[in-house]
Amino acid sequence: MAGLQRVEYVKSQKGAPQVFLQGHTYTKNKVRGEFVHWRCTASKCKGKCTTAGDFIVNVSGEHLHPPHDMNDYIVETWVDYEARFPLHFWNHHQTAGPRTNNNLEGFHSRLSKQLPHHHNVYRFVEIIQKVEINERAKLQQINLGAAPPPRKRVYREVDNRLFRLQASLRVGTKTSMEFLNAVGHLLKLG
Ligand SMILES: [Zn+2]
Repeated sequence: MAGLQRVEYVKSQKGAPQVFLQGHTYTKNKVRGEFVHWRCTASKCKGKCTTAGDFIVNVSGEHLHPPHDMNDYIVETWVDYEARFPLHFWNHHQTAGPRTNNNLEGFHSRLSKQLPHHHNVYRFVEIIQKVEINERAKLQQINLGAAPPPRKRVYREVDNRLFRLQASLRVGTKTSMEFLNAVGHLLKLG
């Protein structure tokens, strides 16, 4: 699937998944096998796109309106007082531990490597059962006080730097802007 664009999903105000593509939002229209057909959320607009799995496979139709400005979109979705996802949903200022879902992505990619290319439901169930037994055993170990799996040195170092930066923000040796600049250098988004 190299070369195809990954789908970016957003949520409608009612929580339904929408596709966000080049400043346009699309709502689900039809599902045909592995293809999902979406149409532009603007009423009577002809904009359409098709996804398969996590990829955009087709874009068609002309939009009868300009795209959302990306900055407006970010502000309306994440930043405003009445944003779709209020601050406390996503703010990680005080988080100790993972701040991303990379661990889940890693789990999924390990899982998909184990699965046979040609799906066979019996083999699939077997593998899923094995995975569950393994994960249960790990959980049990952790419940009995075992240390969680060690994190990579580079992530531990990022955490240590964040803690030091937060401390300087608290005691006032860094201003909010200086803090944000430093955190921006430290964390690479996307
Ligand atoms: Zn449109």
